[in-house]
Amino acid sequence: MMIAGYRRTQNTPGENKPQPEYDTQMSHLIDTFGDTPLPHRLPATMQAAQFYAPGDVRIETVPVPPMGPGELLVKMNTALTCGTDLKCYRRGHPVLLKNFPSPFGHEGAGEVAAIGGGVTAFAVGDRVVAANSAPCGTCFYCEKHQENLCKSLDLLNGTYAEYLLVPERIATKNTYQLPAHTPLEIAAFAEPLADALRGVMALNLHPGDTLAVLGTGPIGQLMIKAATVLGISVVAFGRSELKNRMAQDFGGATTVLSLDITVSPESIKARYTPQGRGFDGVLEAVGTPETWAYAMQLARKGGVVNWFGGCPGDSTVTLPTRPIHYDEIRLMSLFHHTPAYFALAVEWLTTGKIDPTPLITQHLPLERVVEGLEAMANGTAIKVAIEVK
Ligand SMILES: [Zn+2]
Ligand SMILES: [Zn+2]
Repeated sequence: MMIAGYRRTQNTPGENKPQPEYDTQMSHLIDTFGDTPLPHRLPATMQAAQFYAPGDVRIETVPVPPMGPGELLVKMNTALTCGTDLKCYRRGHPVLLKNFPSPFGHEGAGEVAAIGGGVTAFAVGDRVVAANSAPCGTCFYCEKHQENLCKSLDLLNGTYAEYLLVPERIATKNTYQLPAHTPLEIAAFAEPLADALRGVMALNLHPGDTLAVLGTGPIGQLMIKAATVLGISVVAFGRSELKNRMAQDFGGATTVLSLDITVSPESIKARYTPQGRGFDGVLEAVGTPETWAYAMQLARKGGVVNWFGGCPGDSTVTLPTRPIHYDEIRLMSLFHHTPAYFALAVEWLTTGKIDPTPLITQHLPLERVVEGLEAMANGTAIKVAIEVK
């Protein structure tokens, strides 16, 4: 896989910009370049969304996070609402949110406002996108290239805020400088696109193959679009008129059907796949046990199913063993992304291979982030761009 990112690995000689150092007391910046004016001074406090409990997210004034060596402080420009944040808002999250109140939001892009000691790859003023995680690189799972399962995969939250502190590991391994022509609201799609690309590419389909995508939320939409860019023929299944239209107009799905698990899978296969044999690949991007079971029944003999939508933590699924075994249906359930896919997503976005702008159906200021999540919940928004300015 060819990956061209924009992470700056070292400062170009002669291009050094004045770098303010961060005062550990957070009271002011020390200008290390004498009379050179600072890009801007950092305030002591900021506005940020704080997650207290399901259904209880507050916009509060909190301290700008203190910064340590190797870290980046990013002035957020645009954060995006995400289906995962909506799930968190409704029912909490066993992995993402642990200490309460917690910073909230994990998709976004902005400008570097300050750099920690020892940072040479970024400069104040750089436009950047940071992933919401980075693997350690040394544990058992990282050595097996299963970095999304890293034993110490710390997940970063806090893009619904004026400033985001990017920890050293993410700043070093999973943060990219953006070219001037890439709008920050487009770059903010890097995280969900990394998930979508990983979900689609794991199926190992080829141009002309058929793919069923269940779910037309943001991840489903990006999966549909990524698959059609790769030449795969997509039938999408959704429940909302707005999203189903988007699956066709934006995603390029050849057919969009109502997601109704009472409709016999055999009738769908008969009507929408060559010789009625079933889909070469099936992606589940809903996250309920019922749709997991239904997804499997749409695959052809020897086909592959990826349950990408995470179900509630205590779920169980009952599946018929006969087709799994005698029809050799391959089953997988992928979670999250890896640095390689985050880099690939940045490449697709910065080279214009995908323009996800149509998925932003609304813009709201930071103080109305809950309204944005509720708009996603009631189906009137796909993604809401939270403008943090
Ligand atoms: Zn997300
Ligand atoms: Zn690891």
